[in-house]
Amino acid sequence: MPRLKTQAGNTSERETPLSGENRREGKSKGKRGGDLESKLARLRLSRPEDLILHLPLRYEDETRVTPIARLSENAPALAEGVILSADLQQRARRQMVARLMDASGTLILRFLHFYPSQREVLTPGRRLRVFGAARRGFLGMEMVHPRLRVLAEDIPPPPLPETLTPVYPVTEGLAQTAIQKLIRRALESAPLPETLPEEWREKESLPTLAQAVRYLHSPPPDADQIALAERRHPYWQRIKLDELLAQQISLRMAYRARRQSGAPVLRGSGELTRALMDALPFPLTAAQKRCAEEIRQDLASPHPMQRLLQGDVGSGKTLVAALAVCQAIESGAQAAFMAPTEILAEQHFLKFSDWLAPLGVRIAWLSGSLKASAKEAERSAAREAHLVIGTHALIQEGVDFTRLGLIVIDEQHRFGVRQRIALRDKGVSASVVAPHQLMMSATPIPRTLAMSYCADLDVSVLDEMPPGRAPVRTRLLRVERREEILSWLAAQIAGGRQAYWVCPLIEESETLELQTALDTHVWLSAALPEYTVGLVHGRLKTAEKQSVMAAFAAGELPLLVATTVIEVGVDVPRASLMVIEHAERFGLAQLHQLRGRVGRGKDESVCLLLYAEPLSPTARARLKIIYECADGFEIARRDLELRGPGEFVGSRQSGLPLLRYASLEKDTDLVELAHRLADPFITRWPEDAARHAARWLGDRFFSAEPRSGAEAAAPRLTLGL
Ligand code: ADP
Ligand code: MG
Repeated sequence: MPRLKTQAGNTSERETPLSGENRREGKSKGKRGGDLESKLARLRLSRPEDLILHLPLRYEDETRVTPIARLSENAPALAEGVILSADLQQRARRQMVARLMDASGTLILRFLHFYPSQREVLTPGRRLRVFGAARRGFLGMEMVHPRLRVLAEDIPPPPLPETLTPVYPVTEGLAQTAIQKLIRRALESAPLPETLPEEWREKESLPTLAQAVRYLHSPPPDADQIALAERRHPYWQRIKLDELLAQQISLRMAYRARRQSGAPVLRGSGELTRALMDALPFPLTAAQKRCAEEIRQDLASPHPMQRLLQGDVGSGKTLVAALAVCQAIESGAQAAFMAPTEILAEQHFLKFSDWLAPLGVRIAWLSGSLKASAKEAERSAAREAHLVIGTHALIQEGVDFTRLGLIVIDEQHRFGVRQRIALRDKGVSASVVAPHQLMMSATPIPRTLAMSYCADLDVSVLDEMPPGRAPVRTRLLRVERREEILSWLAAQIAGGRQAYWVCPLIEESETLELQTALDTHVWLSAALPEYTVGLVHGRLKTAEKQSVMAAFAAGELPLLVATTVIEVGVDVPRASLMVIEHAERFGLAQLHQLRGRVGRGKDESVCLLLYAEPLSPTARARLKIIYECADGFEIARRDLELRGPGEFVGSRQSGLPLLRYASLEKDTDLVELAHRLADPFITRWPEDAARHAARWLGDRFFSAEPRSGAEAAAPRLTLGL
């Protein structure tokens, strides 16, 4: 790929940098080359193709001259006339005021900053073209800091441009005229081979990329400016499709590369799986059966499974994972099960022990013990175990697996993509085959987002809840009613029910959050002297957390004060009440997760959301959504509307580069189309597909060329990493 020549070329001598924007340009001529390169790098422009794909933010119409008398207010326009006078005025601040006259009238030109040498341009008698937005001033119509161009006296004025003038995103010290010139030159000289197959362009009535960029860099004066501004124009559609397609291709190629590596074939005898099912007090839901079957087939294949099991809070993902674990163990492999929090890891350990220990499965729990001797004992037990459960950190540093065949990652949305990849690489060091991976997530992602963020995975969806769940009744209450709520709660507890009291989230301050939990615990303990009130937070020692959670799960504690450590995964079906303080501080996904801790048993559950006025409009909108919706997908969809996709998945976390032009939220049709085209594109025109992705993603794109040895087993994944 040719690199850019970073010589800007001379600015037209006639173009006079009097207005602020252009001022700096003339000064740094000497070292401009090097400077320019770093400025362009800041805009991520390093190849001619990057310049070509650097598209205008908006346009200015310099294709016709408007008579001064017909300038309308605030509409940018080009005027032409002769300087009548120019004065340096000493008002509140020093300023240059000139008068420009044409056949129809006069226009004031006002400059609040300028160099003495630039005054020269405003010499009476000079003929100028000026561009700017006129407004009505004390002396009549005026333009402040218009762009100026001096017209020579002896030759006819240069022709007006035939197309709209593009205005590009620039960076500190990079003049608009300089980037215009660079882009113009790139367009003239750099080839722009078409990558989209002709049959698809015809089918979707898409212009060629060359047509699209030419048009967008220099549209005709009669172009539909609104469609351009809103990027609805057909040429914009082509650009956005290309961008989305590049993202899809990159993800799918990474997926394919991983599929090429080997994995242990875990066919399983079905023995353990059947024994587990027979021991369950309930049948699988149809959705659980379907997802379990998809996973069963993946495990039996000689390539690593990369599957995301998505299901709303409470849909029964753990059991589906347990079936996969059984199949791995039946096949002589080890399984690792990772959770994002200790509380959750411990709970999974108890649940799996309950389910699988009676069937002879050896389960090890990495508790994170600090004692060296205990640590060593845990690790050696883990090496021998069929199933190791722990937090990701522990498993990552702690164990050298000998026969790791399956990794299950619970609540994977809590892990970033990088961690996900580190986890994947974990099983690889010991052997050249990669373990199968099952990721589970309760963050329901709207369809088009899922298409982008999960395009490098296979996805199974648990779209059905186990039967017999009564919906959680949600109430919104002002925090002033705390006392009233307390007496209601006391009555409920007296009736034998169990409740969580969730303390407010305090941004950036774990200490304050802890203090709030401690205070709330003191307050509730004093208010309910006849009961023991439990307390759980992140600073407790593992054993303490464990015993509190166990007591709560066993029904020995009627009330548990908790920080957000219980946000994900905790499953105590008999707890049916929840109070969340300062609910306005939580995000929607968090509220949905928290509320998902109740409504797991047969009792009708209640969730009280306490809020403090004044509410910001967004907080109000969030509370309304959580009040109205119980369905995680619907909540996610409305959350997306509220926030936009960047924040939604957390672009830092997602590892995906931000889209420059397309929007996952607004361009849903294009996302769908790109998603549909990516795989056939790679299969039928692999070289074009790779070129297409590289054009958009540059070095953020990893191609799927086969590598050797261990690297082949763990190809570096995807984008932006
Ligand atoms: P999540 O998908 O949020 O991880 P869990 O796996 O914790 O959900 O399951 C929620 C609860 O539903 C657990 O108590 C679990 O034992 C129970 N459960 C799972 N599958 C079924 C089923 N098919 N029928 C009835 N209850 C089920
Ligand atoms: Mg779970």
